[in-house]
Amino acid sequence: MNTNIFIQKSFWLLGKALPKCFGCTYCRAQNEMPLNVKYETLPTEVNTCFKDVPVAINLWYGDPTLQVDYTWHILNKLNEVRHAGPICIITKGNATVFSGVYKKFPYLDLHFLFSTFGVDNSQFCVSKTSQLISNLAWAITEGVKYSIEFRPIIYGINDNLETLKRVVTIAAAHKCPIGYSGLQGTPNLVNIWGTNHIPFKPYPGQAFGYKKQLSGEVENNIRRLAKEYNVPIFPKTACLISYIHGYKKDYNAHYYRPNEVGCKHCVMNTQCEMYHKCPDTDTSMIPYPHIIAHKTNHICHHAAHNLCNSVTPDCSNISGTMLQTDIELTSADIRVTKWLTGMTVDCKFVESPHLSDFWNK
Ligand code: SF4
Repeated sequence: MNTNIFIQKSFWLLGKALPKCFGCTYCRAQNEMPLNVKYETLPTEVNTCFKDVPVAINLWYGDPTLQVDYTWHILNKLNEVRHAGPICIITKGNATVFSGVYKKFPYLDLHFLFSTFGVDNSQFCVSKTSQLISNLAWAITEGVKYSIEFRPIIYGINDNLETLKRVVTIAAAHKCPIGYSGLQGTPNLVNIWGTNHIPFKPYPGQAFGYKKQLSGEVENNIRRLAKEYNVPIFPKTACLISYIHGYKKDYNAHYYRPNEVGCKHCVMNTQCEMYHKCPDTDTSMIPYPHIIAHKTNHICHHAAHNLCNSVTPDCSNISGTMLQTDIELTSADIRVTKWLTGMTVDCKFVESPHLSDFWNK
């Protein structure tokens, strides 16, 4: 197992955690991600087939703007190998500390994602609208790709129409898409909030869990505003990145779960649907034994064996062309397989951010 590699959700993560960050109350990085970490193994150091994979820098506890020199150090390393995939920096700090980054690294596909809570002077978050606006203006001048991350949207705190409209109109004025989601409330986080009397509540009729749920009303309000102001919106970061970087489909293959992620409302729907129907089945870069199979109503291995606590109806209704293997993979193996092929994988798997050794070239 490659324990010197950390892959989670949408990214190959590079960088390290800090003992301090902005101290936002809902922070998952502080309570759910490892705090004593440093990962510097570049994708192409493992296998050249990873030259295009998406990378995020310093996504653990410790915003990139609080570790500026170290963020430049990782950028330098990626530049030395001419990494060709999207390189993402997610921040709610002052991005101007990275001024000159585009001139210095013109070959890197840089993308700044500006995180906002949508309200100022919140007891739960340091984010400020003025910082968001000045960061967006900086990104335009700098020449890097950029977007807004409006997360987490919390019941009764930053989900009112005025806040949603504020974020959507800022996005419209700066011509950028928005990634958004509700609040993840794992049992551990819910316990911490309870102990510290933090008044986060799930939406009526919902329970906290791993899925970052919103109410139907809030979803509808965001979609209506996005349509009115012509702003592309995405509940999944990978979908947003695929859109901005001109991919022909979502690199995380969410189109296998179209109801869960709301594909029918998405600007990428036609192209993702086309790829889902007719994927590129060249899998010569996949190093483990597998076959290509077409399946309907397939049930995810974790859902079928009660190993997952965030099952949705889409988990037992997966259809399309997929890779099938008898060997047990890690969830990181599955992620990179999706990134490389655009297909989902039918297999047994264990949750792990580390890649199996068979990827080593
Ligand atoms: S159509 Fe679905 S999978 Fe494709 S980018 Fe949109 S939400 Fe993601």
